[in-house]
Amino acid sequence: MAKQTPANHPIMGAEPGDIANVTTRLIQIRWGAGILVLVATAVCVHLLGLPLPAHILYLVGVCILVYNAVLVWVARRLYSPKPTLHLRRLQRFVLLQVALDWLSMTVFLHLTGGVSSPAIPIYAIHMLSVTILLPSPSPYIYIALGVGALAAIAVLERMAILPHYTVIPVLPPGLQLDPIYIMAQIAFFTMAATATVHLATLVMTRLREHERQVTALLETTQTVSSTLSLPEVLEHLAISAAKALATSRASIRLLDETGEHLHMAVAHGLSEEYQTKGLVDVSRSPLDQEALSGNVVIVKQTATDQRIQYPKQVIKEGIGSILVAPIIGRGRPLGVLRVYADQPDRFTSGDADFVLAIARQGAVALENALAHETLQHADKERAQFVRTITHELRAPVSGAQSLLRVLLKLRKVKLNPQQRDILARVEARFDFLAALINDLLALAASKTAGFLKTPEPVALQPILGECIDQLAHEISEKRISMAYEAPDTMLTVCASAEGLAQIFSNLIGNAVKYTPPDGELTVHLTQRTGSAVITISDTGIGIPAKDLPHIWEEFFRASNARRSQIVGTGLGLSIVKRLVDSLGGMISVQSVEGKETTFTVSLLVTPLDKATS
Ligand code: ADP
Repeated sequence: MAKQTPANHPIMGAEPGDIANVTTRLIQIRWGAGILVLVATAVCVHLLGLPLPAHILYLVGVCILVYNAVLVWVARRLYSPKPTLHLRRLQRFVLLQVALDWLSMTVFLHLTGGVSSPAIPIYAIHMLSVTILLPSPSPYIYIALGVGALAAIAVLERMAILPHYTVIPVLPPGLQLDPIYIMAQIAFFTMAATATVHLATLVMTRLREHERQVTALLETTQTVSSTLSLPEVLEHLAISAAKALATSRASIRLLDETGEHLHMAVAHGLSEEYQTKGLVDVSRSPLDQEALSGNVVIVKQTATDQRIQYPKQVIKEGIGSILVAPIIGRGRPLGVLRVYADQPDRFTSGDADFVLAIARQGAVALENALAHETLQHADKERAQFVRTITHELRAPVSGAQSLLRVLLKLRKVKLNPQQRDILARVEARFDFLAALINDLLALAASKTAGFLKTPEPVALQPILGECIDQLAHEISEKRISMAYEAPDTMLTVCASAEGLAQIFSNLIGNAVKYTPPDGELTVHLTQRTGSAVITISDTGIGIPAKDLPHIWEEFFRASNARRSQIVGTGLGLSIVKRLVDSLGGMISVQSVEGKETTFTVSLLVTPLDKATS
């Protein structure tokens, strides 16, 4: 089943917003019309002394004002909160207004002279607003009703069933009874009204067409540039093209690596069977050859066009005509964008230009998405490579570390101070190497999809407690005064325990590492508007302001940390940032060099009943 696009929505030609605007305008105009009837009657009757039925005309004026007041009240109720929610009711409201206006207009025509009324052109003007508001053929029905009303007045006056009112005394008496005059008036009124409505319909159709196309182009630009995901870009493009041409079917076929076949990348509104009809072989498809060479191709009649590779399937799918636009990247064709219509001969050269514009927009977005995909792929491959290498390095390095430790502990081995110093330095280098390997492994793992267990509700307090315990020895060795505050009720977040432990051990580990002896360290956990907020503050060396924006970068170390003897790889925070991002959380840092540093992590809290601590 073809998807229903907004362009196919069975609404009247005008959008709900248009209807709301125009009816508001109509209501304003109607105030004027009502007052005008009253004033004109007063002037004509009392100043000019015309023989008009003043009382009935006043009544008509008052009626117009009264029903307009009722319409204002209805409109207020109808337009809140949003006009789009009340499309059907809006339509009925428009019909009600048109009917009331038709009635008052007809009465007014009769009271101002029937077929010889100077007010006849006002009828035509009212038809314009009907054309804007109602879809074809409603304006033509309205003309018929108007003409019918005029003819009925003429006939009834001629048969003396209705009285005749003379507005223009110089007109020959009995003119309204002359059949030729009556027919001429009605014929010219019909012609003028039909021509007006026809022209207005043409203008409105063109305007709406342009509006739809401009909207589609704008939407294409916005949507395709708002994502780097290839499937999303393709989907947006196909939908935009279909929407712009008011059809419900479109597809994008992309060239494979060989450049010989076009495979279906996205299909909108096409049946499963049609989508899987097979690869399009470029050498056997003159249609695509022409399109891939940069031209838009229109297949007017699918039934007779020889250029189609799968003619039977096209007919079976009920496709009458096809428009094929090339998607050309930087100097090379990427694929084709096709729009399908049920009817034959449906597309114009204007449509072709327009779809080409969409395809051009799409080509840029498509190239970006393709480049992004390639980059992501390369990044993952690199991460996998680093993971393999570091994994291989880990065993010999930790082996060498333990051998060295054994050597340094052996009493039999007499080492002079210089030898001992050298071995201590070798040990420090190995420690650094081991830390680097661990960090590289963690970083590579964070870049490889699915490295962590599936997120589940995890309580934060036990994890924070464990991280602090692991660092207890270092904390007491440096005589750091440690404060840990957390609520008694468990705060749970949706994450993997392993990932959370990595985040907090890195942050608390850094705080211990960069805080000199006798300093202070505070870990604070609290809940704030649906988020668990964890702050880790220390009174350590701080981070220079100029370095703050870079601390999340891989291998970056602040200038004061590099100058110090403190060993580090510059990888911990980039891992932490990646992990927090992957959990949909936020992390920030505040620091004053030489004084203090605070890292704040906030993670969305998961309801307690799901928690497993
Ligand atoms: P490293 O292994 O160097 O600690 P990180 O990625 O964990 O690497 O941190 C990056 C840099 O941020 C550190 O080199 C240091 O300059 C700075 N830094 C991180 N945490 C702190 C802290 N608590 N106090 C001062 N500086 C910090």
